[in-house]
Amino acid sequence: AKYVYDFTEGNRNLKDLLGGKGANLAEMTNLGLPVPPGFTITTEACRHYLAEGAVHDGLDQEVAEHLKALEERMGRKLGQADDPLLVSVRSGAKFSMPGMMETVLNIGLNDESVHGLAKQAGGNERFAWDSYRRLIQMFGKTVLGIDGDLFEQALDAVKGRRHDTDLDAGELQRLVETYKGIVREQTGKDFPTDPREQMRLAINAVFDSWNAPRAILYRRQERIPADLGTAVNVMAMVFGNYGDDSGTGVAFTRDPGTGRQGIYGDYLQNAQGEDVVAGIRNTIPLEELERLDKTSFDELVRIMETLETHYKDLCDIEFTIERGKLWMLQTRVGKRTAAAAFCIATQLVDQGLITLDEAVTRVTGDQLAQLMFPRFDGGAEKKKIAKGMNASPGAAVGKAVFSSERAVELSGQGEEVILVRRETNPDDLAGMIAAKGILTSRGGKTSHAAVVARGMGKTCVCGAEELDVSTAEHRFTAPGGVVVDEGDVISIDGTSGEVFLGEVPVVASAVVEYFEGAEPDDELVRAVDRIMRHADAQRRLGVRANADTPEDAARARRFGAQGIGLCRTEHMFLGERRQLVEDLVLAATDEERQAALDALEPLQKSDFIGIFQAMEGAPVTIRLIDPPLHEFLPDITDLSVKIATSQDVTDKDRALLAAVKRLHEQNPMLGLRGVRLGLVIPGLFAMQVRAIAQAAKEVPGARPEIMIPLVAAVQELESVREEAVRILAEVGVEALIGTMIEVPRAALTAGQIAEAAEFFSFGTNDLTQMTWGFSRDDVEAAFFSRYLDLGIFGVSPFETLDREGVGRLVRIAVEEGRATRPDLHIGICGEHGGDPDSVHFCHDVGLDYVSCSPFRIPVARLEAGRAAL
Ligand code: PEP
Ligand code: MG
Repeated sequence: AKYVYDFTEGNRNLKDLLGGKGANLAEMTNLGLPVPPGFTITTEACRHYLAEGAVHDGLDQEVAEHLKALEERMGRKLGQADDPLLVSVRSGAKFSMPGMMETVLNIGLNDESVHGLAKQAGGNERFAWDSYRRLIQMFGKTVLGIDGDLFEQALDAVKGRRHDTDLDAGELQRLVETYKGIVREQTGKDFPTDPREQMRLAINAVFDSWNAPRAILYRRQERIPADLGTAVNVMAMVFGNYGDDSGTGVAFTRDPGTGRQGIYGDYLQNAQGEDVVAGIRNTIPLEELERLDKTSFDELVRIMETLETHYKDLCDIEFTIERGKLWMLQTRVGKRTAAAAFCIATQLVDQGLITLDEAVTRVTGDQLAQLMFPRFDGGAEKKKIAKGMNASPGAAVGKAVFSSERAVELSGQGEEVILVRRETNPDDLAGMIAAKGILTSRGGKTSHAAVVARGMGKTCVCGAEELDVSTAEHRFTAPGGVVVDEGDVISIDGTSGEVFLGEVPVVASAVVEYFEGAEPDDELVRAVDRIMRHADAQRRLGVRANADTPEDAARARRFGAQGIGLCRTEHMFLGERRQLVEDLVLAATDEERQAALDALEPLQKSDFIGIFQAMEGAPVTIRLIDPPLHEFLPDITDLSVKIATSQDVTDKDRALLAAVKRLHEQNPMLGLRGVRLGLVIPGLFAMQVRAIAQAAKEVPGARPEIMIPLVAAVQELESVREEAVRILAEVGVEALIGTMIEVPRAALTAGQIAEAAEFFSFGTNDLTQMTWGFSRDDVEAAFFSRYLDLGIFGVSPFETLDREGVGRLVRIAVEEGRATRPDLHIGICGEHGGDPDSVHFCHDVGLDYVSCSPFRIPVARLEAGRAAL
């Protein structure tokens, strides 16, 4: 195998092997751009090293050959005393992990070659000693594992209030001695002076840095696989620290915030490597380079154009100017905000660089979702008091409260509250639901608060460590002596992680207003419009909505829903109608039961009329009632207590308690719900079917589809179907009759079930619950953050469909269902229908449509388009 590639041998498609940096350095080299020569050691070599604890046998030899070629090209040898070649050794994984792994510059310097370097630089002693002290500092910290502060302190002691550039050659030379002393003291050995040894140790240190704790943490958070390893780039040094005619900078080919074309970046004179980002001195805006060094500036602008045209995308760049000569040290397709992603994609189409198909693949459903949250008014005056992690996006304003109880209490009185806690735990759930937003001072993006808030779509800032939260005193303090007591208004920005004192005005999302029907009138909205139209034209999957009210149905229609995929009828029985259902369930005689059904039927009918009207002839899948019984019965404990302590208990109360006890279930989610309820309570499903049929008869063009929940056996479906067919015929209305597939047994016997079903809809909420044996109501809060930390899954299976387990059941059901009935219409209506990754899965397994909540419809449309491209 080949473990080392010269920059001239690679290209940008070899990221797996050469890492992102190495692949792009090769690409730039082959484009003829000024890249210092060098070579890349592959990720395969890293994986071997990490697995075996030592480099591959042939590696040293292969590196030596490439170094020799480099030396010949440069006309000097690594660390050669009178005229040294110096190299940098840099990490570069497939996915960028900014600042997570190691880099060592100026390798090849020692007590002799430092003089050679000064000579090479025309007698610039200061530069040579500055480079040498940087080597010991970086090498000491990253290769030898010495605490970096020790070097910083020694530097500060010499520097005082001056800048590093103010130190003269003598001071830097003495600093080198001090640094060497630190190395000796901390490691018991002298700083290694052999250049080849320096290089070898630096390469291994880069390999090792793959498993540094911060890199592991970063990968877990960004869901980067742990076994990729990093490549190592060895490159001839160019120097930005020669003097004022030199420097180093970073640049973007367009504004990563808005997408606008122009010169965006920072430059630092007389500096090297990380100085720009480390903030040691103030950088200057890149435009000013034009004034300092017009030749280099013009060339940089030209190169940026070349890169954009070549990569057909926004690029970011690191460069160095050495005595008026520009060198490219890195480029990659750059990160950008959600808004910029849409704008850039359509700008590139207009420039003729990419097609609309490509533009659709350049944006994601997650980015679109971000643009649909309300945000704070950018122009408003704000008093920022802290910054935490942006755990769940959106903008929330409310009175600070410090306990779950208080949040529930105040929100019950119509107040908007922000729940502030040091951290949250499952006991805070009620308060989190009641609050507009959640703010914690501890915990990261997978903390309880973050995971639960995201699950609820609620704004959350977590880990705002500057805040001192005192739950006992109902207050928190922020830096600068700011005190916020219970009831004081704060504003939190879940998109940026910022916390503000007082009320910041919130503006609705322009993208949502567009989906609601507003004309596209700014660049972003026009870009969204264009991309959505194209995604719609390309997608094969239909997109429907989960909606149970005429209002939701109408919004869903405006957002582009092609029908309703799930109308949950039990949601129509809440509020004051609940009593009617209670009466029905508890009815002791046929007459009582019939009376309850007769009262419900006209209510149901008018519900359906409203929905059919809102959907204007698009199909409406109505699911017959599926409540876990306990949702409709009085709470057994409350009722027992009431009867035990009350003075005037009636016979009716006692009868009620007896009935509730009889129907009480330990596991209501696995109990008498769905089709089981329909089979046990005579007349219930018949009443619903009649209401649907009669409503459909009154709304011209209505297209009802009747869906039976929680079916596990074809026999259950057959008996419900028989009755439904009869009622439909009586009323004289046609409707498809189908079933949900949400119990594993239904998926496994789908071939039989399809005999009695004209359509399937996967209820992946229950299917996930029953496949994993996870209670959908409890486990996310209880232990999912631990499971995420342990890497048992990268994301909750209730959020993104588990392809291996639940997905296998879906595949089986699709295949066997269609084997029985080739024209079987199949969709999904669990929460996964609006999740980007799950939408791609649905496309891949050949579903006909996805159904999701109205606000996710645009996301599903976009992802369905992307899946088809
Ligand atoms: C499901 O189980 O996925 C489903 C859509 O039904 P519900 O969430 O109402 O149980
Ligand atoms: Mg279900």
